[in-house]
Amino acid sequence: MSRTILIVEDEKAIADTLAYALATDGFTPHHVTLAQAALDFLHSPDVQTPALIVLDVGLPDMNGFELCRRLRQFSNTPVIFLTARNDEIDRIVGLEIGADDYVSKPFSPRELVARIRAVLRRLEAGQSAAANVANEKKSSFELRADEARIAYYGQILALTRYEYLLLKTFIDRPQQLFSRAQLMDLVWTDASDTLERTVDAHIKSLRAKLRLINEQDDPIQTHRGMGYSLSLS
Ligand code: CA
Repeated sequence: MSRTILIVEDEKAIADTLAYALATDGFTPHHVTLAQAALDFLHSPDVQTPALIVLDVGLPDMNGFELCRRLRQFSNTPVIFLTARNDEIDRIVGLEIGADDYVSKPFSPRELVARIRAVLRRLEAGQSAAANVANEKKSSFELRADEARIAYYGQILALTRYEYLLLKTFIDRPQQLFSRAQLMDLVWTDASDTLERTVDAHIKSLRAKLRLINEQDDPIQTHRGMGYSLSLS
């Protein structure tokens, strides 16, 4: 299946050139012009998570660095920054907040596509090693993001919207400890006054649904006073 590359760039000519080069190379480009549109796209349960994000530093509604910092709170998707300023400080800031590479404008679209491929290759080499370790347990969950459904031991779970988003957050980052506050930020993005006990209540209902399918397994770990994680061990 063709991999999606999210392009966040307000200059249409640049985005079009890059989208064309990506499509020619077998990727599926998805272009947005605003940081908020990028966040909406990444939070949507209906779309496939992009393989990589090309992020312009100078966006009209939010600095690209700030956008990267925000998306790093819920996403590991690699980021390549685009900037008009060939500035060493920018480069260091970008890499410190979790970017994978950095390209200065004007750039050659073919060179950028080659850099995208290099980042994806590096990532896949690291992942296949990790996957070999986690594979056995990870297979108990099957995320079908395009259908917004999750199967557990081969059975589709009947989940509410927030249960789905909560479990997807855990599956995307196995072993990671999430505090209740982080889960409220990541999952209840469109609710105004979520309480910590809302998180606990959803964890409880999720656990009950998982237990119905497999009573032996309790993959959601409670870390007293700290939060929750999904265990793959
Ligand atoms: Ca710009």
